[in-house]
Amino acid sequence: MADSNKTHRAFRYRIYPNTEQQQVLAVQFGHARFVYNWGLATRKAYYHQHGTGIDHYALKRQLTQLKHTPGFEWLGEADSQVLQAKLDDLDRAYQNFFEKRAGYPRFKSRKGEQKIRYPQRFKFDGNRIYLPKVGWVKAVFHRPLTGTPKTVTVTKTKSGNYFVSVQCEMETDSRPQGQGEIGIDLGLKHFAVLSSGEKIESPQYLRQSEAKLKRLQRQLSRKQKGSANREKARLKLARQVEHVANQRKDFLDKLSHDLAKQYHTIKIENLNVCGMLKNHKLAKSISDSGWGMFGRMLAYKAADCQKIDRFYPSSKTCSVCGFRNKQLQLQHRFWRCPACKTEHDRDINAAINILNQPTAGAAGRQTPVESV
Ligand SMILES: [Zn+2]
Repeated sequence: MADSNKTHRAFRYRIYPNTEQQQVLAVQFGHARFVYNWGLATRKAYYHQHGTGIDHYALKRQLTQLKHTPGFEWLGEADSQVLQAKLDDLDRAYQNFFEKRAGYPRFKSRKGEQKIRYPQRFKFDGNRIYLPKVGWVKAVFHRPLTGTPKTVTVTKTKSGNYFVSVQCEMETDSRPQGQGEIGIDLGLKHFAVLSSGEKIESPQYLRQSEAKLKRLQRQLSRKQKGSANREKARLKLARQVEHVANQRKDFLDKLSHDLAKQYHTIKIENLNVCGMLKNHKLAKSISDSGWGMFGRMLAYKAADCQKIDRFYPSSKTCSVCGFRNKQLQLQHRFWRCPACKTEHDRDINAAINILNQPTAGAAGRQTPVESV
Protein backbone atom coordinates (compact mmCIF):
# COMPACT_ATOMS: atom_id res chain seq x y z
CA MET A 1 0.00 0.00 0.00
CA ALA A 2 2.34 2.66 -1.27
CA ASP A 3 0.86 6.09 -2.04
CA SER A 4 -2.75 7.15 -1.85
CA ASN A 5 -3.86 6.37 -5.42
CA LYS A 6 -1.90 3.26 -6.23
CA THR A 7 -1.82 0.03 -4.34
CA HIS A 8 0.05 -3.22 -4.93
CA ARG A 9 -1.13 -6.73 -4.41
CA ALA A 10 0.56 -10.05 -4.99
CA PHE A 11 -1.32 -13.05 -6.35
CA ARG A 12 0.28 -16.43 -5.88
CA TYR A 13 -0.51 -19.41 -8.09
CA ARG A 14 0.86 -22.91 -8.43
CA ILE A 15 2.36 -23.71 -11.84
CA TYR A 16 3.17 -27.07 -13.41
CA PRO A 17 6.13 -26.83 -15.81
CA ASN A 18 6.75 -30.00 -17.86
CA THR A 19 10.10 -31.79 -17.71
CA GLU A 20 11.61 -29.75 -20.51
CA GLN A 21 10.40 -26.48 -18.96
CA GLN A 22 11.78 -27.55 -15.59
CA GLN A 23 15.17 -27.95 -17.23
CA VAL A 24 14.96 -24.47 -18.76
CA LEU A 25 13.89 -23.05 -15.40
CA ALA A 26 16.79 -24.81 -13.69
CA VAL A 27 19.14 -22.96 -16.08
CA GLN A 28 17.43 -19.63 -15.30
CA PHE A 29 17.61 -20.27 -11.55
CA GLY A 30 21.23 -21.37 -11.70
CA HIS A 31 22.43 -18.49 -13.88
CA ALA A 32 20.45 -15.95 -11.83
CA ARG A 33 21.97 -17.32 -8.64
CA PHE A 34 25.41 -17.08 -10.24
CA VAL A 35 24.77 -13.42 -11.15
CA TYR A 36 23.56 -12.63 -7.63
CA ASN A 37 26.64 -14.19 -6.07
CA TRP A 38 28.93 -12.61 -8.66
CA GLY A 39 27.32 -9.21 -7.96
CA LEU A 40 27.75 -9.66 -4.22
CA ALA A 41 31.41 -10.67 -4.59
CA THR A 42 32.04 -7.74 -6.98
CA ARG A 43 30.44 -5.26 -4.60
CA LYS A 44 32.45 -6.60 -1.68
CA ALA A 45 35.71 -6.49 -3.64
CA TYR A 46 34.98 -2.98 -4.92
CA TYR A 47 34.28 -1.74 -1.40
CA HIS A 48 37.43 -3.40 -0.11
CA GLN A 49 39.50 -1.71 -2.81
CA HIS A 50 37.92 1.75 -2.92
CA GLY A 51 36.37 2.16 0.51
CA THR A 52 33.09 3.12 -1.11
CA GLY A 53 30.21 1.26 -2.71
CA ILE A 54 30.00 0.56 -6.44
CA ASP A 55 27.31 2.37 -8.40
CA HIS A 56 24.37 0.06 -9.10
CA TYR A 57 24.27 1.00 -12.80
CA ALA A 58 28.00 0.52 -13.14
CA LEU A 59 27.51 -3.00 -11.81
CA LYS A 60 24.74 -3.63 -14.33
CA ARG A 61 27.04 -2.49 -17.14
CA GLN A 62 29.73 -4.86 -15.84
CA LEU A 63 27.25 -7.72 -16.11
CA THR A 64 26.63 -6.89 -19.77
CA GLN A 65 30.40 -6.94 -20.33
CA LEU A 66 30.75 -10.20 -18.44
CA LYS A 67 28.31 -11.90 -20.82
CA HIS A 68 30.65 -11.09 -23.71
CA THR A 69 33.75 -12.24 -21.86
CA PRO A 70 35.23 -15.53 -23.15
CA GLY A 71 34.27 -18.29 -20.74
CA PHE A 72 31.02 -16.64 -19.66
CA GLU A 73 29.02 -16.83 -22.90
CA TRP A 74 26.78 -19.43 -21.26
CA LEU A 75 25.12 -16.58 -19.34
CA GLY A 76 23.32 -15.88 -22.62
CA GLU A 77 21.20 -19.01 -22.01
CA ALA A 78 19.30 -17.10 -19.33
CA ASP A 79 16.82 -14.31 -19.96
CA SER A 80 18.83 -11.10 -19.75
CA GLN A 81 16.11 -9.22 -17.87
CA VAL A 82 15.96 -11.98 -15.27
CA LEU A 83 19.69 -11.57 -14.72
CA GLN A 84 19.46 -7.78 -14.48
CA ALA A 85 16.52 -8.12 -12.06
CA LYS A 86 18.75 -10.26 -9.84
CA LEU A 87 21.14 -7.31 -9.50
CA ASP A 88 18.16 -5.12 -8.59
CA ASP A 89 17.26 -7.68 -5.91
CA LEU A 90 20.82 -7.55 -4.64
CA ASP A 91 20.66 -3.75 -4.53
CA ARG A 92 17.43 -3.97 -2.53
CA ALA A 93 19.09 -6.44 -0.14
CA TYR A 94 21.81 -3.83 0.41
CA GLN A 95 19.24 -1.07 0.92
CA ASN A 96 17.49 -3.24 3.52
CA PHE A 97 20.81 -3.79 5.22
CA PHE A 98 21.71 -0.06 5.20
CA GLU A 99 18.30 0.83 6.61
CA LYS A 100 18.63 -1.86 9.27
CA ARG A 101 15.71 -3.93 8.05
CA ALA A 102 17.90 -6.95 7.32
CA GLY A 103 21.35 -8.41 7.85
CA TYR A 104 24.24 -8.18 5.39
CA PRO A 105 23.39 -9.87 2.05
CA ARG A 106 24.52 -13.47 1.84
CA PHE A 107 25.58 -15.73 -0.98
CA LYS A 108 22.72 -17.84 -2.33
CA SER A 109 22.93 -21.59 -2.19
CA ARG A 110 21.63 -24.10 -4.72
CA LYS A 111 20.02 -25.94 -1.84
CA GLY A 112 17.65 -23.16 -0.81
CA GLU A 113 14.46 -21.90 -2.40
CA GLN A 114 15.12 -20.73 -5.99
CA LYS A 115 13.68 -17.48 -7.27
CA ILE A 116 13.71 -15.46 -10.47
CA ARG A 117 11.79 -12.34 -11.38
CA TYR A 118 10.52 -11.31 -14.79
CA PRO A 119 10.01 -7.54 -14.96
CA GLN A 120 8.28 -7.77 -18.38
CA ARG A 121 7.19 -9.90 -21.35
CA PHE A 122 5.09 -12.42 -19.44
CA LYS A 123 1.54 -13.14 -20.60
CA PHE A 124 -1.55 -14.93 -19.34
CA ASP A 125 -4.36 -16.83 -20.89
CA GLY A 126 -7.09 -19.13 -19.48
CA ASN A 127 -4.96 -21.62 -17.56
CA ARG A 128 -1.44 -20.85 -18.68
CA ILE A 129 1.26 -18.29 -18.07
CA TYR A 130 3.91 -17.37 -20.63
CA LEU A 131 7.44 -16.97 -19.29
CA PRO A 132 10.22 -15.79 -21.63
CA LYS A 133 12.67 -18.60 -22.54
CA VAL A 134 10.38 -21.14 -20.86
CA GLY A 135 7.18 -20.80 -22.90
CA TRP A 136 3.56 -21.41 -21.91
CA VAL A 137 3.38 -23.13 -18.52
CA LYS A 138 0.28 -24.76 -17.09
CA ALA A 139 -1.06 -22.82 -14.10
CA VAL A 140 -3.99 -22.99 -11.72
CA PHE A 141 -5.55 -19.56 -11.29
CA HIS A 142 -7.75 -20.32 -8.30
CA ARG A 143 -8.47 -16.63 -7.94
CA PRO A 144 -8.69 -14.03 -10.74
CA LEU A 145 -5.98 -11.42 -11.17
CA THR A 146 -7.02 -7.82 -10.68
CA GLY A 147 -5.06 -4.70 -11.56
CA THR A 148 -2.08 -4.38 -13.90
CA PRO A 149 0.55 -7.12 -13.56
CA LYS A 150 3.96 -5.49 -13.05
CA THR A 151 6.34 -8.33 -12.34
CA VAL A 152 6.20 -12.11 -12.08
CA THR A 153 8.36 -14.01 -9.62
CA VAL A 154 8.84 -17.73 -10.21
CA THR A 155 9.73 -19.81 -7.18
CA LYS A 156 10.81 -23.39 -6.83
CA THR A 157 10.36 -24.45 -3.24
CA LYS A 158 12.77 -26.71 -1.41
CA SER A 159 10.43 -29.63 -1.93
CA GLY A 160 10.29 -29.01 -5.69
CA ASN A 161 6.91 -27.31 -6.20
CA TYR A 162 6.67 -24.32 -8.53
CA PHE A 163 4.76 -21.12 -7.90
CA VAL A 164 4.38 -17.75 -9.56
CA SER A 165 3.72 -14.61 -7.60
CA VAL A 166 2.23 -11.84 -9.74
CA GLN A 167 2.71 -8.35 -8.39
CA CYS A 168 -0.15 -6.14 -9.55
CA GLU A 169 -0.68 -2.43 -9.35
CA MET A 170 -4.15 -0.95 -9.11
CA GLU A 171 -5.86 2.35 -8.59
CA THR A 172 -7.35 2.38 -5.12
CA ASP A 173 -10.64 3.67 -6.45
CA SER A 174 -10.90 1.23 -9.33
CA ARG A 175 -10.90 -1.73 -7.00
CA PRO A 176 -13.92 -3.99 -7.16
CA GLN A 177 -16.54 -3.05 -4.63
CA GLY A 178 -16.89 -5.91 -2.21
CA GLN A 179 -16.91 -9.03 -4.34
CA GLY A 180 -16.02 -12.58 -3.46
CA GLU A 181 -14.90 -13.87 -0.14
CA ILE A 182 -11.69 -14.16 1.82
CA GLY A 183 -10.45 -16.01 4.87
CA ILE A 184 -8.08 -14.32 7.30
CA ASP A 185 -5.71 -16.04 9.68
CA LEU A 186 -4.26 -13.83 12.35
CA GLY A 187 -0.67 -14.82 12.74
CA LEU A 188 2.27 -14.19 14.95
CA LYS A 189 4.94 -13.84 12.30
CA HIS A 190 2.75 -11.61 10.12
CA PHE A 191 -0.13 -9.51 11.34
CA ALA A 192 -2.56 -11.35 9.09
CA VAL A 193 -2.45 -13.91 6.29
CA LEU A 194 -5.18 -14.05 3.64
CA SER A 195 -6.48 -17.19 1.95
CA SER A 196 -5.40 -15.56 -1.34
CA GLY A 197 -1.82 -15.98 -0.18
CA GLU A 198 -1.19 -12.34 0.69
CA LYS A 199 0.70 -11.75 3.92
CA ILE A 200 0.17 -8.50 5.73
CA GLU A 201 2.88 -7.09 7.94
CA SER A 202 2.56 -4.49 10.59
CA PRO A 203 3.96 -1.32 9.06
CA GLN A 204 7.56 -0.40 9.77
CA TYR A 205 6.68 2.83 11.61
CA LEU A 206 4.49 0.88 14.01
CA ARG A 207 7.17 -1.71 14.72
CA GLN A 208 9.65 1.09 15.41
CA SER A 209 7.26 2.79 17.82
CA GLU A 210 6.64 -0.52 19.58
CA ALA A 211 10.38 -1.07 19.94
CA LYS A 212 10.70 2.39 21.47
CA LEU A 213 7.84 1.56 23.83
CA LYS A 214 9.69 -1.52 25.05
CA ARG A 215 12.82 0.55 25.57
CA LEU A 216 10.93 3.09 27.67
CA GLN A 217 9.38 0.31 29.75
CA ARG A 218 12.84 -1.05 30.53
CA GLN A 219 14.11 2.44 31.40
CA LEU A 220 11.23 3.02 33.81
CA SER A 221 11.86 -0.26 35.60
CA ARG A 222 15.45 0.83 36.29
CA LYS A 223 14.51 4.14 37.90
CA GLN A 224 14.33 4.44 41.68
CA LYS A 225 10.83 4.41 43.15
CA GLY A 226 9.58 7.85 44.21
CA SER A 227 12.34 9.70 42.35
CA ALA A 228 11.73 12.67 40.05
CA ASN A 229 13.44 10.76 37.24
CA ARG A 230 10.99 7.93 37.63
CA GLU A 231 8.08 10.32 37.31
CA LYS A 232 9.63 11.76 34.13
CA ALA A 233 10.12 8.28 32.69
CA ARG A 234 6.55 7.33 33.61
CA LEU A 235 5.16 10.31 31.71
CA LYS A 236 7.32 9.59 28.68
CA LEU A 237 6.12 6.00 28.68
CA ALA A 238 2.47 7.02 29.00
CA ARG A 239 2.81 9.30 25.98
CA GLN A 240 4.42 6.54 23.92
CA VAL A 241 1.67 4.06 24.90
CA GLU A 242 -0.86 6.50 23.51
CA HIS A 243 1.20 7.16 20.38
CA VAL A 244 1.47 3.43 19.63
CA ALA A 245 -2.25 2.92 20.25
CA ASN A 246 -3.08 5.69 17.75
CA GLN A 247 -0.71 4.38 15.13
CA ARG A 248 -2.04 0.84 15.54
CA LYS A 249 -5.61 2.05 15.23
CA ASP A 250 -4.75 3.95 12.01
CA PHE A 251 -3.15 0.86 10.53
CA LEU A 252 -6.10 -1.37 11.46
CA ASP A 253 -8.58 1.20 10.20
CA LYS A 254 -6.94 1.38 6.80
CA LEU A 255 -6.48 -2.38 6.49
CA SER A 256 -10.06 -3.21 7.50
CA HIS A 257 -11.33 -0.51 5.14
CA ASP A 258 -9.33 -1.93 2.22
CA LEU A 259 -10.47 -5.49 2.91
CA ALA A 260 -14.12 -4.55 3.32
CA LYS A 261 -13.98 -2.60 0.09
CA GLN A 262 -12.50 -5.48 -1.81
CA TYR A 263 -14.39 -8.46 -0.43
CA HIS A 264 -18.05 -9.03 0.19
CA THR A 265 -17.66 -11.82 2.71
CA ILE A 266 -14.82 -11.84 5.21
CA LYS A 267 -14.23 -14.87 7.38
CA ILE A 268 -12.11 -14.46 10.43
CA GLU A 269 -11.37 -16.61 13.44
CA ASN A 270 -13.39 -16.00 16.50
CA LEU A 271 -10.40 -15.76 18.76
CA ASN A 272 -10.83 -17.25 22.13
CA VAL A 273 -8.37 -14.75 23.52
CA CYS A 274 -8.85 -15.86 27.12
CA GLY A 275 -8.06 -19.46 26.19
CA MET A 276 -5.05 -18.45 24.16
CA LEU A 277 -3.67 -16.21 26.86
CA LYS A 278 -2.94 -19.34 28.91
CA ASN A 279 -0.25 -20.07 26.36
CA HIS A 280 2.53 -17.80 27.55
CA LYS A 281 4.31 -17.43 24.21
CA LEU A 282 1.17 -16.25 22.46
CA ALA A 283 -0.06 -13.98 25.22
CA LYS A 284 2.18 -11.00 24.56
CA SER A 285 1.66 -10.97 20.79
CA ILE A 286 -2.10 -11.22 21.13
CA SER A 287 -2.54 -8.49 23.66
CA ASP A 288 -0.23 -6.22 21.63
CA SER A 289 -1.40 -6.79 18.11
CA GLY A 290 -4.93 -5.41 18.33
CA TRP A 291 -6.63 -8.47 16.86
CA GLY A 292 -9.79 -7.91 18.88
CA MET A 293 -10.05 -4.34 17.61
CA PHE A 294 -9.42 -5.51 14.04
CA GLY A 295 -12.27 -8.04 14.31
CA ARG A 296 -14.68 -5.38 15.55
CA MET A 297 -13.67 -2.98 12.77
CA LEU A 298 -14.25 -5.65 10.12
CA ALA A 299 -17.59 -6.49 11.68
CA TYR A 300 -18.94 -3.01 11.11
CA LYS A 301 -17.20 -2.23 7.83
CA ALA A 302 -17.64 -5.43 5.82
CA ALA A 303 -20.88 -6.29 4.04
CA ASP A 304 -20.72 -9.72 5.63
CA CYS A 305 -18.22 -10.53 8.36
CA GLN A 306 -18.37 -14.06 9.71
CA LYS A 307 -16.58 -15.17 12.84
CA ILE A 308 -15.48 -18.75 12.56
CA ASP A 309 -15.29 -20.84 15.70
CA ARG A 310 -12.12 -22.83 15.77
CA PHE A 311 -13.57 -26.21 16.57
CA TYR A 312 -10.70 -27.87 14.78
CA PRO A 313 -7.08 -26.73 14.46
CA SER A 314 -6.98 -24.86 11.15
CA SER A 315 -3.17 -24.78 11.07
CA LYS A 316 -2.85 -28.55 11.36
CA THR A 317 -5.46 -29.61 8.83
CA CYS A 318 -4.50 -29.96 5.16
CA SER A 319 -6.74 -27.58 3.21
CA VAL A 320 -6.58 -29.86 0.16
CA CYS A 321 -7.37 -33.33 1.53
CA GLY A 322 -8.33 -32.79 5.18
CA PHE A 323 -5.45 -34.78 6.68
CA ARG A 324 -4.62 -33.74 10.25
CA ASN A 325 -0.94 -33.28 10.93
CA LYS A 326 -0.73 -33.88 14.67
CA GLN A 327 3.05 -33.50 14.63
CA LEU A 328 2.91 -29.86 13.52
CA GLN A 329 4.55 -27.53 16.03
CA LEU A 330 4.33 -23.77 16.37
CA GLN A 331 7.80 -23.29 14.87
CA HIS A 332 6.99 -25.21 11.66
CA ARG A 333 6.33 -22.50 9.07
CA PHE A 334 6.08 -24.93 6.13
CA TRP A 335 4.94 -28.52 5.97
CA ARG A 336 4.21 -31.16 3.41
CA CYS A 337 0.99 -33.12 3.72
CA PRO A 338 1.91 -36.81 4.16
CA ALA A 339 -1.37 -37.85 2.55
CA CYS A 340 -1.66 -35.73 -0.62
CA LYS A 341 1.92 -34.36 -0.78
CA THR A 342 0.80 -30.74 -1.04
CA GLU A 343 3.35 -28.33 0.35
CA HIS A 344 1.81 -25.83 2.72
CA ASP A 345 2.73 -22.45 4.03
CA ARG A 346 1.38 -22.86 7.54
CA ASP A 347 -0.49 -19.55 7.70
CA ILE A 348 -1.89 -19.55 4.15
CA ASN A 349 -3.17 -23.08 4.71
CA ALA A 350 -4.86 -21.94 7.93
CA ALA A 351 -6.47 -18.98 6.15
CA ILE A 352 -7.84 -21.26 3.41
CA ASN A 353 -9.30 -23.55 6.08
CA ILE A 354 -11.00 -20.57 7.69
CA LEU A 355 -12.42 -19.56 4.29
CA ASN A 356 -13.72 -23.11 3.78
CA GLN A 357 -15.35 -23.38 7.17
CA PRO A 358 -19.12 -23.58 7.14
CA THR A 359 -20.59 -20.84 9.27
CA ALA A 360 -23.50 -21.15 11.66
CA GLY A 361 -26.69 -20.92 9.62
CA ALA A 362 -25.01 -21.31 6.25
CA ALA A 363 -25.40 -24.86 5.03
CA GLY A 364 -21.75 -25.75 4.96
CA ARG A 365 -20.87 -24.31 1.57
CA GLN A 366 -17.39 -25.37 0.59
CA THR A 367 -15.11 -23.43 -1.72
CA PRO A 368 -12.90 -25.75 -3.70
CA VAL A 369 -9.22 -25.04 -3.23
CA GLU A 370 -6.94 -26.26 -5.95
CA SER A 371 -3.55 -25.20 -4.80
CA VAL A 372 -1.29 -23.36 -2.39
ZN1 LIG B 1 -3.31 -33.24 2.15
